[in-house]
Amino acid sequence: MITSAIRKSCPAAIILFLLCVTFYLPPVAGAQSSSAQAKLSVHWEELTASDFRDGIHRSQGVCLLPFGILEKHGPHLPLGTDLLDVRYATLHAAEQEYAVVFPEYYFGQIAEARHEPGTIAYSRNMQLALLQETTDEMARNGCKKVLIVNGHGGNESLLPFFAQTQLDKPHDYVVYVFDERTPQSGGPKKKTSIDMHAGESETSKMLVSRPDTLHLDRATNESGADQHHQNLPEGVYTGIWWYARFPNHYSGDGSVATKELGEYQMNWWIDSLVKVIRGVKADDASLKLQNEFYEKSQHPLDTQP
Ligand SMILES: [Zn+2]
Repeated sequence: MITSAIRKSCPAAIILFLLCVTFYLPPVAGAQSSSAQAKLSVHWEELTASDFRDGIHRSQGVCLLPFGILEKHGPHLPLGTDLLDVRYATLHAAEQEYAVVFPEYYFGQIAEARHEPGTIAYSRNMQLALLQETTDEMARNGCKKVLIVNGHGGNESLLPFFAQTQLDKPHDYVVYVFDERTPQSGGPKKKTSIDMHAGESETSKMLVSRPDTLHLDRATNESGADQHHQNLPEGVYTGIWWYARFPNHYSGDGSVATKELGEYQMNWWIDSLVKVIRGVKADDASLKLQNEFYEKSQHPLDTQP
């Protein structure tokens, strides 16, 4: 509309001048660099080497390691459900609060699903060694704050153990673990009480992150009920407890999943993660304390109360 108005009232030379001003002005240096910065990918693997340097600077050394797994998820969800969900939440959080996100990582604890097709269960030593070398390499590249975002319930013992054993010997970086995926309350009312694996919550989240991979019509093909008759002794832990209760590697009922519940839970996950990233960026105590601790641990007899 503006163009036709100009055509009616201006000679050709003026139109040409206006077009030049509109389309051929050289970009202002500051504007160019800020728009390039705004486009900086959060995906480690999508950054060029020099953009990676900018990304580390912009993230203040905070790098995210979304941690998934490859395991059966009931009869209706894909093997990579935890990886797909945790990356969805992490990437969206990093878009809001910039941080560099490590590529697909799924080398965790899943011994209890080795009887199911498609499970990749690395040995205990391999899991710990690979994770240590991964965080070491991240730190060598400037990630002085490595935030592991756990997407898989089977890692819930592994990751605190891994973080704790960072005190074994000096590291010039801090490992943080964020291990919450589902809000305790609020949101649409849930229909099921047992909901530990591939059930209502996890299936709902997949309706948000990767609905194209779901087979909701198969969700009742197997039972996700608790097999209480497989009672084990009380007061002790045994690794077979999960198989005893959920031999189909399915806990709950995915058929009742809704997108509303998925959106509520996924938004909660993303919002929580944004807050955690901000907290980690602001943390200037952990590394100082670690260094103090490493130094003192060289000569414990000198430590005074
Ligand atoms: Zn899962």
